[in-house]
This record gives sequence, structure tokens and C-alpha cells, in this order.
Amino acid sequence: MKRIFKIISKAISPHLLAVTTVLITGNMMAQNTNPLNSKMDAIAKPQSTPNWIEFREEAKINPLTIFNDYQQAFELTANDNMSIVKTEKDDIEFTHYRYQQFYKNLKVMYGEFIVHQLPNGFVNSANGRLITGINSAITPALNKEQALSLALQFMNAKKYLWQNADMENELKRQEKNVDATYFPEGELVLAPANYEATFMASDYKLAWSFKIYTDDNEVMAKTVYVDAVSGQIIHHTDIAMNCSTGSGTSAFNGAVSFSTELSGASFRSHNDCQATDIYVYNCGGGGASTTYYTDADNAWTGASAIQAQWGALSTYNYFIGVHSRASWNGTSGDMIVYNNAFAGQNNACWGCTGNQTIFYAGNTSSATDDWNTNDIMGHEFTHGVTQASANLVYNKESGALNESFSDIFGEMVESWSEGTCDYLVGADRGAIRSLSNPNLYGHPDTYLGTNWVSTVGCTPSGANDQCGVHTNSGVQNRYFHIVSEGGTGTTDFGVPYNVTGISRFTARGISYRALTFYLTSSSQYIDARKASLQAAWDLYGQCSNEIIQVGNAWHAVGVESQSAQFSKNFCGNYPASGTFMQSISLTTAANGCATTITPSATAVYFTARDNVILYPGFIAQSGSNFTAYLEPCSSTMWRTGSDVTMSDAERGITSNTLAIQNQTEKETDGIAIVPNPFNSNFDLSINLQNGERTKVVLYNTLGVKVREFMDKDLLEGVNKLSFDCRDIATGVYMLEINVGETKTVKRIVKN
Ligand SMILES: [Zn+2]
Repeated sequence: MKRIFKIISKAISPHLLAVTTVLITGNMMAQNTNPLNSKMDAIAKPQSTPNWIEFREEAKINPLTIFNDYQQAFELTANDNMSIVKTEKDDIEFTHYRYQQFYKNLKVMYGEFIVHQLPNGFVNSANGRLITGINSAITPALNKEQALSLALQFMNAKKYLWQNADMENELKRQEKNVDATYFPEGELVLAPANYEATFMASDYKLAWSFKIYTDDNEVMAKTVYVDAVSGQIIHHTDIAMNCSTGSGTSAFNGAVSFSTELSGASFRSHNDCQATDIYVYNCGGGGASTTYYTDADNAWTGASAIQAQWGALSTYNYFIGVHSRASWNGTSGDMIVYNNAFAGQNNACWGCTGNQTIFYAGNTSSATDDWNTNDIMGHEFTHGVTQASANLVYNKESGALNESFSDIFGEMVESWSEGTCDYLVGADRGAIRSLSNPNLYGHPDTYLGTNWVSTVGCTPSGANDQCGVHTNSGVQNRYFHIVSEGGTGTTDFGVPYNVTGISRFTARGISYRALTFYLTSSSQYIDARKASLQAAWDLYGQCSNEIIQVGNAWHAVGVESQSAQFSKNFCGNYPASGTFMQSISLTTAANGCATTITPSATAVYFTARDNVILYPGFIAQSGSNFTAYLEPCSSTMWRTGSDVTMSDAERGITSNTLAIQNQTEKETDGIAIVPNPFNSNFDLSINLQNGERTKVVLYNTLGVKVREFMDKDLLEGVNKLSFDCRDIATGVYMLEINVGETKTVKRIVKN
């Protein structure tokens, strides 16, 4: 049979990938530090950015009408329309509304936003990317047929899959639709005319988009965007996602069992024993084929056929068993495996023929060098999971993340089926990548560090591995290893790190949630960090060890840096403009130096996890505006030496805000909580110089009042109070103690 897949082993061989080592120092993170507009400022907490918004409690967002209700806050116009493409409730009862942006009813590529709703209905956050300020005509100068003809000229394949009758029939069967075809449908969209991850409206052009599957092993399947006015090919992205190559031999998995289908007098390699059908086809050393493996008595011979059937089943079992996900698309879509393809060649692929996988036969006819180990099987189907969720576009940083999630969940499939985890990709037949030490294979373990393939000014192509997707994946791979297993050391830039492992079982749940509920097609490394922090927050709580270690692990791979400053005293003159003064545990102002807040309409914020203290010497001038609040998550990390302007605080609780205007205040001394954390009750002691009216109120971390413990007069001296909390749920709370006019907020934890 004709080979229909491009062999890209040359383009992605390790020696080629190792040559492009670029070191960049200085301010490395492409952080979005754009200020919020005033309409957004009114509904978003101050640490929000346009791409990662945390809503104020009082905003009362309706997730179904948010983009109409707050059109100006999102800087959308009457020409823009946000349409829900998916609504999902997750396993902890959050609801995620995934929106696609349309401009004059045309899809805006990469314009996606996800709105997140807590189980109690509160919409706490939203993230993604909008392409604002598009001003484009939408009448094409070229019709669809003209544009397709230009796209096919660009592809220049010898033959296309819609010209292959066998594959056309197979697609109709898989999709249970007699009209299904590989012939490119064509859609008028707005697409960027470059590959820089800037996503500016000025980059966008009216374009025809076509998904083109080829029946030519020299040309990979692509989505091609044709400028609908000029006819130029302005953008193209690979649909197919390949594994990269290696060599070597090793053992496989011994005796395994799997399900087959009795057909006539023999059994064949179709597993229809669960909602998801698994088909394993024998390519016989050639291209995609619809020939089953068969066996007369169901006691199978043929190590490669057995491996492929067991690997696909293991992948299915992992995703349904661990993540409650039915198949790659979450809705029991067929799992198609083309096994033993292309004798003599080394690779594997998701997407080369649509929503299917293909595994190459390797250099020899032996089964032990086939590219169908459990982790490679898991890797390829994870590309399907990614396609059906975040849909990370396959180039540059988003493509590297796409590859990394496949490596991570490939390893988790192996761990699930074999009981151990080697953090090596394809080790059963010869490892090609390492999650624990990416440098061993010429891949980076630090963002922008050694072996990083520069994506700046890079135009993605097969020859440059779509700007290094199989190389730069090393950064998140290393993140996953270190957050799972822990470790200490220094990054390529000499920054020390220290991570306590939370186990791969915990880490995989966080990564899965980040991938499927937070990331969008254009997500970058900084978004991957934020998404995993958000996922850890959802699953384990805001001051949990898990979220802290996730922050530490990203720090360990150079994605957002960390100051070790748990306490910080801020001195100087602050004219405001949304400035954050923040440290992890304790923020003080004017302890031995002057801190002055000068008048401005925009607030200055003092935040910390445990205490914000304003000492004498702190002056807020008349007309100035500042807010101090407890920001009870210590995962907030930032670059040493830039601790005046914060870009990425995790979350604040404005309901517990200590809004202090034009006055100085000292922390109320003499308040103690014992024990803290507590189990069933705690004692509060308050030492008063004069008798005062005292009110004690408990808030949860979303600022919702949980209980008012007391409101009564206390006497001079030490007052000992005991509060029964047996019927309060475990978790982190804020205890607000109001003594006369003085408010103190303490963080307490019920275990
Ligand atoms: Zn891959």
C-alpha cells in the first residue's frame, strides 16, 4: 500500500534539535501587564489582567450573558459576538463555559474565553484571549473554490485523502454519517497573518480556512488560511502531531489480556466491550489500512498486535478510571489504531488521518522496536484529548505545551498500566525524551534556558519542528516531574529552587484540570502556570501545600520567578496607579523609614497572606486612596528586585479589605488564637487597655460571612473566649475581630 504519511524523522532528530540553543536573559516572561480599563476595574479584583480575570464578589456575573452585560469591560463592539461552544460541569461541581469570539458572525481564530462558576453559583473567574479592535470588511474577493485551489497549490501533495475511496468509506463508518468526507469544507474566518504570539487585531485578516488531509507521505495534514482578498497563504497550522524518534530495543509488557470481537469463525482486533469502540488495524508495514488482525482461538500470537490492543485499552482505562473521561473526546468516540505502519521508519502520529492514531513499525520487523509502547499510545491519544479541550495550536509555546501534555499523560498511562513510572518517553523500545532530566536528550529544563528553541521571529515549519514543539516541551515535562517527586537545585539562570513533591497522582489531576478546563488554543507557558495554580486552588484550596508546590515547581523551571521574601517593609513615596505592595506573609509600611501615599484616584494596595501592618511613619495624605488586604495564598511569587510592581498576585479577598483612608493604624496587639490550625474549637484571647465593644465574625476565603461569633462589651485586661466550630467545614477562614473602631483580620485553619 502507498505510504500516506510524511516521514518527519529527519526534521526532528535529536542532532538537529540540539543546534538551536539560544540564551536570553533579562526580563524573560511575556507577562500580560496591561492595566484593566475602568469598566473592568469595577468588576475585577485588582490583581486581574485582561487575560486572567478574578471577579469581585459584588459583581454578580451571569455566565450566560457576561459578554453582553460587560461588553465595554471586555472591549467588545456591536460587531463582536461571544458564543458558547461548550458547557461542562467538572467532578467538583464547577461549571466551565467555553466561549468562541465571532466578528460579524465570522469565527476569530484564537479568540476564546472560559468563564468559571463555583458550585454555589458564584462566577469567580474567567480567562482566555479576546482579539479586540478588529475593523475588517467581511466580503471576500475570492470565492471558496478559488481559495481552495490556492490552498492546494500551497500543499502541493500528489494525492489527497478524499481521492482515496477506502479512507472515505472508513470515515463515513467512523462518523456514522454517509455524508462525511475528507474534502475540505472551507470556512470564512478572521485569522492572524503571522505567527507571533501577539494576537493583535492589526494582525488579523479575512481568510478562507481549509482542513486538508493528504494521501502523500511527503506532505502533512494542515489547516491552511488563504487571505480572502489577496489570495496569499497567511497562516497554516499542522493538524497532525507526531512523536519524535529514537532507536534501541527493550522488552515489552509480558502477558496481558484484552477484549476482541468474534466475527465468523475467528476473533478480530475490534474491542466493542465498552461504550468506546477500539479498533486496531494492521497496516502490514505500509500506510493506513482497514485490515483487522485476526486469531482463530483468541489465544493471540503476534507481539505487536497484542501490544497495540492492550496499549489502546490501557489508555482508555486510564482516562475513564482516573479522570472520568470517556475516550479522547470525552463522549466515547472511537479509538482507532493503525498499527505496524511504514516498515523501516520511526514515528507515531495523532491526526495524520483525522481523529485517529498511527504507530510505525520501526527499523526492523521485530515487534520490540515498534512505536506502540504504552506511553507512546497514551501520548498519541492525549493529543486527541487536547484537541477536544484546550486545542493548543501546534507550534511555538502552545505546541510545546501540547506535546508536553502528551508526554505527561503518556507516562501516566504507563504508570497506570504497569504500576511504576520511569518518566522516560518510549523507554520500553528506547527512550527519546526524559521528564526528569530533559537535558539528557537535548531539551530544556528551564524556560528560555539551555536547549530552548527560540520562538521569536520563527515561522513554524516541519523542518524547524513547528518552532521546537518537541524540544520546548521539556520545560513543562520537568515541571511535572519536579512537582510530583520534588527536588532542589538551581535553574539555568542560577536561581535556587526547592520543591516538595506532591506525588504524580496529585500532580496529574492538577494537569488534567488545567488542560481541560482552563487552557485555550493560544495558551503560552505563563498561562500553563496560571492554569495549574487555578486547578490546584479548585482541588485543594488556596493555601494548600499543593498550590504552594505547584508555584514552587514552576519557579524551578523558570516560569515566573519567586522572591523568598516572606516579609517586606515598603518605604518611599507611592503616587498610586494600581501599584501592589506585597510579600508572601507579612507586609509592613514605615518601620524605620517613611512611607507616603500621595493623592490619586487609583488605589495603592498593601497585601500579604498573614499580616499587613502600618507602623507610625506611614502617611496617607489627604485625598489619597489605598487598600490593605489579606491575600491568603502564599503561592504568589515574583522576580527578586521588582517587588514594587506586582504583576501576578493570585487572589485577594476584598470583602475582608481593611480600607483605611487618610490615617495610620497599628496592628492590634494582644490578640492570640490557640490552637491554629484547630480541630473542633479554638480559644481567642484579647488583651485590652480599655473595655471596648468587640465583635468577632468568621468569613470564608471568598469573603462570605460564615458565622458571627459574638458582639458584646469586653473588659479591660485579658479576655479569654472559646468558640465551638464542630459544625464548620474544614478549610481556611478569615477571622475578623473588631475592637471598637479597630479591625484585625487573622487567618485561621480548621483541619
Ligand atoms: Zn506528540
